[in-house]
Amino acid sequence: MLAPEIESRPWAEQTALDDAAYREQIAYLFARSAFYRQKLGEAGIGSAAEAGPIAQIARLPLTEKQELRASVTPGNPIGSHLCATRDEIVRIYSTSGTTGTPSYIPLTAGDLDNWVTGSARSYAASGVEAGQRIVSTYNAGPFVAGAALASFDRIGLCHIPVGTGNTERLVRVIELLEPEAAVLTPSYAAHLVEWTAERGFDLRGSSVRRVLVAGEPGGGEPAFRAKLEDGWGAKVTEAMGIGDIGVSLWGECEAQDGMHLGARGFVFPELIDPESGAAIALADGASGELVLTHLRQRAAPLLRFRTRDHVQIAMSECSCGRTGPRVRCIGRTDDMLIVRGVNVFPSAVREVVGTFAPKVSGNILVRPAVPGVKQEPPLPVSVELAQGVAVDAALAEAIRDRLRSVLVFQTRVELVPWGTLQRSEYKSKLVER
Ligand SMILES: [Zn+2]
Repeated sequence: MLAPEIESRPWAEQTALDDAAYREQIAYLFARSAFYRQKLGEAGIGSAAEAGPIAQIARLPLTEKQELRASVTPGNPIGSHLCATRDEIVRIYSTSGTTGTPSYIPLTAGDLDNWVTGSARSYAASGVEAGQRIVSTYNAGPFVAGAALASFDRIGLCHIPVGTGNTERLVRVIELLEPEAAVLTPSYAAHLVEWTAERGFDLRGSSVRRVLVAGEPGGGEPAFRAKLEDGWGAKVTEAMGIGDIGVSLWGECEAQDGMHLGARGFVFPELIDPESGAAIALADGASGELVLTHLRQRAAPLLRFRTRDHVQIAMSECSCGRTGPRVRCIGRTDDMLIVRGVNVFPSAVREVVGTFAPKVSGNILVRPAVPGVKQEPPLPVSVELAQGVAVDAALAEAIRDRLRSVLVFQTRVELVPWGTLQRSEYKSKLVER
């Protein structure tokens, strides 16, 4: 652990410290944030005292990304949640804009330092250590992931940035510079396994012993993880953040049983029912949408921000000694479909299909018959076969039956030959829209 006294602190103690930071953060919002003065005022909360302790945070309204966008004006391109003056801001990131127009995320020097500190704890949880080499594959320059790369310096790693889009160069780096770790999206990690196999490069025999995946769900799906670990001959752990709140807030340890909150003390996690918005207690096994609150942010702090990540919580003790909640991302609320009342995450479909390896490649594509979230069964799903496996009606039927028994909805499974579905050097598209 980078900070054992912090990372193994009893969670109740952490919550007590968080409560003090939270009260200060709320007072700061009333003093500096036009957005939250108005929003909290409309909810009948006129002062920090009225907001109460962190234990009562669920009384406060949730914040949606759309509200922040709506507060942007020509005079204030960041939005009315901007709290800092121009000279206090040391960096401004853009979000990648996958869900709309880009938005800007300003940071003070303190904010940036907290981001890097939390991210470093998350990545160090994977077991990478000072003195080791790590190759990174993100074209992160303008995006918040850039701050995650700074956390490699903080850990004391030798960072070899290669970027996306040149697999040849990446493999050459692995071969010649012998990094102990590689950081990439799970999709790209899977693509590398195929790419190297086709060219006879022995990825399993390479120097890479740890593969750190982030950027999309997948690294925590048992079948998908097993495939990556087998292909790389390496341990696969995942990390997760959300641009508006912070990078790699969560990171998995070597026990591979969910991601620890590396950003503890900077961010407070909650769970809600994505439809009603009602709070769900952070209990072992609970699942829902992750909601995050900044505790020490200064430039543009957010309160009860809806991440749209659907997660499952583990509260049991972890063998590594870190305390507090662990999460596993089940999928993005934005990717969710509702098939006759049942919530369906494409990543969950992939996880079930993945259990049919080595007959399947692990690539799937959900193909909704009509636009929108609500779908009628059976939901069409294309499942790609492994190399050299022929289309087989009995296999399609077995996949369909297992999807029905595990996820409780009907599908129409179409088997497609190996190589049919698109590979990605960044993030995979699991739903055809
Ligand atoms: Zn652990």
